[in-house]
Amino acid sequence: MNAHPQPMWPDWQAQQRAARISTADLLAELGLGEADFPAGVLAAPAFPVLAPPHFRSLIRRGDPDDPLLRQVLARGEEALPQPGRLTDPLAEADFRAAPGLLRKYRSRALLIASGACAIHCRYCFRRHSDYGATMLTRAGEAHAMAAIAADAAIDEVILSGGDPLSLADARLAALVAAIAAVPHVTTLRLHSRTLMAIPDRVTPALIDLLAGTRLAVVIVAHSNHANEISDDVAAALGRLRAIGVTLLNQSVLLAGVNDDAAIIAAHARRLFAAGMLPYYMHLTDPVAGAAHFDVDEGRARAIEAQVRGLLPGYLVPRFVREVPGQAAKTPLSALPGS
Ligand code: SF4
Repeated sequence: MNAHPQPMWPDWQAQQRAARISTADLLAELGLGEADFPAGVLAAPAFPVLAPPHFRSLIRRGDPDDPLLRQVLARGEEALPQPGRLTDPLAEADFRAAPGLLRKYRSRALLIASGACAIHCRYCFRRHSDYGATMLTRAGEAHAMAAIAADAAIDEVILSGGDPLSLADARLAALVAAIAAVPHVTTLRLHSRTLMAIPDRVTPALIDLLAGTRLAVVIVAHSNHANEISDDVAAALGRLRAIGVTLLNQSVLLAGVNDDAAIIAAHARRLFAAGMLPYYMHLTDPVAGAAHFDVDEGRARAIEAQVRGLLPGYLVPRFVREVPGQAAKTPLSALPGS
């Protein structure tokens, strides 16, 4: 899918700054108005709307049900009382080993490298995070790196957030160098949605940075629909592949976005054509404000079975739910009721 024509941007940071937009301006840009939605559906959001120009350019004009628009448009349902929904649905506070450092799994350590994102996904399980308290600070970095250096079982460090590619190159380079200085760490993983939101983030400087580390580099991107994989995104992925980065994608199964086997299959094929393999299909976490995206486990199982019938096994994402305290993500087939 090609993006609609856009102005020239001086750099990716300018695109990141231009991501902040009011609901009214977003709708006007798309040729939509409040009258295109049922009464009360739209809302002034507590979690601000953030959608960079490239991502907005992929939203179909005049379509209130566009699957990309649904991911970024604040809706009144977010503010409704939602019994059983949590602000920290994965109990991450219990896994904080040092400021900015999460230890959920034996061989991996996760750094909350940034509190900023290129885009605000309305279903995000960290949408209530107080990043001021949870993210890695320069002052806390020494503690986190000491904890990683002290545990030889850790062979992979994950940069997450927020989004680690929202960091300036100099900060990212310093972090990567600190990780690479720990001899038992072999792999650097970045969790990022910026690739789909601002493909221009994959600059020559970023390529040099990632090509220059001794670490094996894995990027687990996050996209949910084939329409997010524009030609610009595919070109950015191509630049990363050319330096040997392993490219995987994780999605969230979202009502009204991708809760359909044919849509998931089309997405998987588009990812593969762009050099990326589907990795996870997460069931939504019970985060407060996002219940309207839930797909129940019964439907999810039916969709997974249909997807298996449409795709070769290597393109079928693993349908999983993250259960706090489990040693790994739980396959849908292993959840009670299967
Ligand atoms: S980019 Fe990632 S961390 Fe940021 S809002 Fe979206 S899902 Fe959450």
